Amino acid sequence: MFVEIVDALRCPHSHEESWLVLAARRTKDRHVLEGTLGCPVCRAEYPIHDGIVDFSASASPDDAPAPAVVDLAPAEHLAAMLDLGDARGFVVLIGAWGTRADELLELLDAPPLLLVEPPARVTMGHGLSGIRAGATLPLATGAARAVATDRADPARVAEAARVTRVGGRIVAPADSPVPNEVRELARDATVWVGERLPLPSAPVSLHVRRG
Ligand SMILES: [Zn+2]
Repeated sequence: MFVEIVDALRCPHSHEESWLVLAARRTKDRHVLEGTLGCPVCRAEYPIHDGIVDFSASASPDDAPAPAVVDLAPAEHLAAMLDLGDARGFVVLIGAWGTRADELLELLDAPPLLLVEPPARVTMGHGLSGIRAGATLPLATGAARAVATDRADPARVAEAARVTRVGGRIVAPADSPVPNEVRELARDATVWVGERLPLPSAPVSLHVRRG
């Protein structure tokens, strides 16, 4: 877990949005490999092991995984869809998209990558951070510059849109709904690419909404 991404993490429990307090036991090149994140509001603790923060204890049992994108675009195509040419801020890769992480890092100016449910053979550190989460992504609203999700699950796609900053890109399975706050830019047989729009009227809630 890259220390700069820790600032964007939020406790997934249903209380006012809260930062998490880091207790690092082992770090390397500004990546926390072993440690704990603690919530000052509800006192929940989330362990960090091998650079991956485990939020899955907060997941409800009905967070069943939906079918994933079968054909993953090559890293260069993914970088183009996510508009990573002038990298600023971190990018979220959910599920199977994490298999493209090492290739993305080799591309010019690749930003820090946060992998949600990282594939087993991907090692954290050197620009890669990992979390295991439930349906709610433990991230601040608008924190990420772009998100790619492999789940057609509407709740997961809505969360992907929530954590993407205005103007940032979202890549999601073609058979998943495009959220209201996303403008579709392109689609093919497997995915759609969208841009996060400002919400039209009401001010953006800083609280994590729960269904
Ligand atoms: Zn909490």
